[in-house]
Amino acid sequence: MVQAKTWVLKQHFEGFPKDTDFELKLEQLSKPKDGGLRFSDFIFFPYLLCCIPSGIYSCSSEVLLEAVFLSVDPYMRPYSRVRMQAGDVMIGTQVAKVIQSNNPSFPVGCHVVGQCGWRTHNVSDGSDITKVLDAWPQSVSLSHALGAIGMPGLTALYGLEEVCAIKPGETLLVNAAAGAVGSVAGQIAKLKGCKVVGSAGGDDKVAYLKELGFDQAFNYKTVSSLEEALKNASPEGYDCYFENVGGPFSSVAITQMKAFGRIAVCGGISLYNDTTQQTGPYPQLEMIFKQLKMEGFLVSRWEHKNEESLKRMLTWMQEGKLKCKEHVTVGFENMPAAFMGMLRGENIGKAIVKV
Ligand code: NDP
Repeated sequence: MVQAKTWVLKQHFEGFPKDTDFELKLEQLSKPKDGGLRFSDFIFFPYLLCCIPSGIYSCSSEVLLEAVFLSVDPYMRPYSRVRMQAGDVMIGTQVAKVIQSNNPSFPVGCHVVGQCGWRTHNVSDGSDITKVLDAWPQSVSLSHALGAIGMPGLTALYGLEEVCAIKPGETLLVNAAAGAVGSVAGQIAKLKGCKVVGSAGGDDKVAYLKELGFDQAFNYKTVSSLEEALKNASPEGYDCYFENVGGPFSSVAITQMKAFGRIAVCGGISLYNDTTQQTGPYPQLEMIFKQLKMEGFLVSRWEHKNEESLKRMLTWMQEGKLKCKEHVTVGFENMPAAFMGMLRGENIGKAIVKV
């Protein structure tokens, strides 16, 4: 019998999350089941009046996982409202090691990315885990499977390629630019021959963006006028806008778009902790006169492309074309602190917890 530590959402967040919204609990895990054959594993042939097995290794063959790295992400804040009840284990992704296995697809010792929630251990039937790329080099930390070579990296890639359909020579604006998604989006746009302007909430973050090769970067918290900062960074305006923040930033940024500009609405982190809904200014007239296109998206829409996309980004990383900082918090006990720290903007790059 294995005991897992879990972090539970004790009560729904009201405004910015607090320590008292979380509770550390122990969970007893039963031994991973050896699937064998179940009724559902047989196909019934009425004309032959018999059943034949549909597969020897059924999906119920389970594995025991041990968390190595856990991700803390902005989506956990809005999704806690729609996907979770008070008392549920916090949702989330982790890189885990298989430590017992009855499932030949996931042998002992292999690493997986799993939707296991905030847990140190988990029993999985294989349906909620994916093996880390076979080609993963030893020199690259597996934690990047939660960042640039994982969901946030894919989000950056699809937002630019699928939603903005960005082209060489165009100008991109990205906010929360020093974070997990924004820093990758800016670098990919540079790789595609674009001019990139990034905004972030600290001078250290701005220095990081310049290190990454952003053409222009500014601290949105200290500029006297956001409109002036955007105009100075790109007097001719913006073809594409990778939106991570929403709210008042967005209202100003939209006025700086070029005609036929494209806006990929990836996130709205400035709204996630609101207790009362923010209102206008409203963008419709700006959008009509400039004939803008604005499209919200979820990274999961292009799941079928993930393997090829992850390989592409891993190659960029190995070639030194994609650089990725991480903000690592050590200790599973510190999950809530890491989560709240990320929401406060303490991270440069991907916020990760190392068990
Ligand atoms: P980050 O690593 O960028 O961390 C969050 C950052 O947001 C903070 O570091 C902070 O940076 C910034 N921030 C926090 N509060 C505010 C605020 N009130 N106003 C402005 N900025 C704020 O997170 P991710 O890269 O993981 O996510 C970025 C965005 O992408 C989020 O909105 C997230 O929800 C979204 N997302 C969407 C996905 C999709 O499928 N559509 C998938 C993954 C992420 P700073 O110091 O610069 O303010």
